[in-house]
Amino acid sequence: MTALRLHNTMSGQLEDFVPIEAGHVRMYTCGPTVHDFAHIGNFRTFLFEDLLRRVLLQQGYRVTQVMNLTDVEDRIIKKAAEHGQTIDEFTEQYIKAFFEDLDTLRIERAERYPRATQHIFEMVSLIEVLREKGHTYVSDGSTYFHIASFPRYGRLAHLDVSGLRAGARVDVDDYGKDDPRDFVLWKARQPGEQSWETPLGVGRPGWHIECSAMSMKYLGESFDIHTGGVDNIFPHHENEIAQSEAATGKTFVRYWLHAEHLQDAVGEKMSKRLKNFTTLRDLLSEGYQPRAIRYALITGAHYRSPLAFSPELLKAADSAVKRLDEFAVRLGTTGDAQPTTEIQHRWDDALRDDLNLPAAVGHLFEFIKAFNTRLESGKATPEERAGAMAMLHHANRILDVVEFPEAVDAEVEKLIAQRQAARERRDFARADEIRQQLLRMGIQLDDTKDGTRWKRVPPPRP
Ligand SMILES: [Zn+2]
Repeated sequence: MTALRLHNTMSGQLEDFVPIEAGHVRMYTCGPTVHDFAHIGNFRTFLFEDLLRRVLLQQGYRVTQVMNLTDVEDRIIKKAAEHGQTIDEFTEQYIKAFFEDLDTLRIERAERYPRATQHIFEMVSLIEVLREKGHTYVSDGSTYFHIASFPRYGRLAHLDVSGLRAGARVDVDDYGKDDPRDFVLWKARQPGEQSWETPLGVGRPGWHIECSAMSMKYLGESFDIHTGGVDNIFPHHENEIAQSEAATGKTFVRYWLHAEHLQDAVGEKMSKRLKNFTTLRDLLSEGYQPRAIRYALITGAHYRSPLAFSPELLKAADSAVKRLDEFAVRLGTTGDAQPTTEIQHRWDDALRDDLNLPAAVGHLFEFIKAFNTRLESGKATPEERAGAMAMLHHANRILDVVEFPEAVDAEVEKLIAQRQAARERRDFARADEIRQQLLRMGIQLDDTKDGTRWKRVPPPRP
């Protein structure tokens, strides 16, 4: 068996994955800023993290995943004030919507979703440690991280910080590319802003400190995996490393994984700023199926490649999901067996190769195509069909898009058995009644010398 290899942004290379604690993976994922509905590009990143989580679980690891909810940040403060609401009142609707969207896309829940506003004490304590160790300074009542005091600054983003201007600093939470400046840890209160009274003064946290404080609280000072979108690399993750490692003197995170952007149909990065984004809710109201959206976002491209989001992509995803459903129906078995060995190995190896789901799905469809030929020629044995079904279940542990007809199967099998019994006692009227009943369910029977086979057909019009 090959080892699980993951691309580490820190080294720029594929590395064998070895967790700090044998058998247990501790992972932190930057969560949503709950000032609006998350857009579909955000969900590409959350689905990549769901893929990673599922692969780790399928590899047999126990996973402790923490995803923060950023509920205090420039835009939230501004919008809450505009609505005359507290932060909690304003963010509640978007937190609720976020979890609904996770369920719609079948994104598995993390173990914890800590909120920034509930960890002010931890953030202040961390800033105090940084202050004691000489990594901060105060200007106009705000506390800043002095990045020249942390020589490793810029390693994750591979930035050149030699031209760094001493004392150049930035107050906004999210700032421009490749512009390393001293960033704010604690912001002095502005008129009209919700604030907290702390030993650092009256104010509120900068954006970056929350992820250091909450990840280390729940996962320890050093943990295995930190994920996000590529636009988190700088400044956010660079700042997280500086805050955490300057405070503890330890390596903060072993593996940094980042998902590439989702692009619009003309190849622009989808973003709130460009207003070229779509929300999940928009897509659902246009009639797209959640399973197709999920499938498109996880298989459309490898997570480290940009993916162009288009109606064609969704259409192709929809038909791929239907083909998987149909395959499950044609196999007509519960899959109570071991997955077919060869395809399982190819599937697992592709996923262990930096989560190459597009390749894994390619192998799966080759297998399905070949197996369909065997089914059509009647060569597939019951054991082979059970193995194929077990493989489909194995794949679906990652994909989570197939609707297995097992509940229907059981009902169909029962009716077929009743029909067989009726035929044996020469009650042909009853046997035909059952045949008609099945036809209304969209099931067509075919009596062969090996017994009765069935397949799904469009139900007759009433
Ligand atoms: Zn973060």
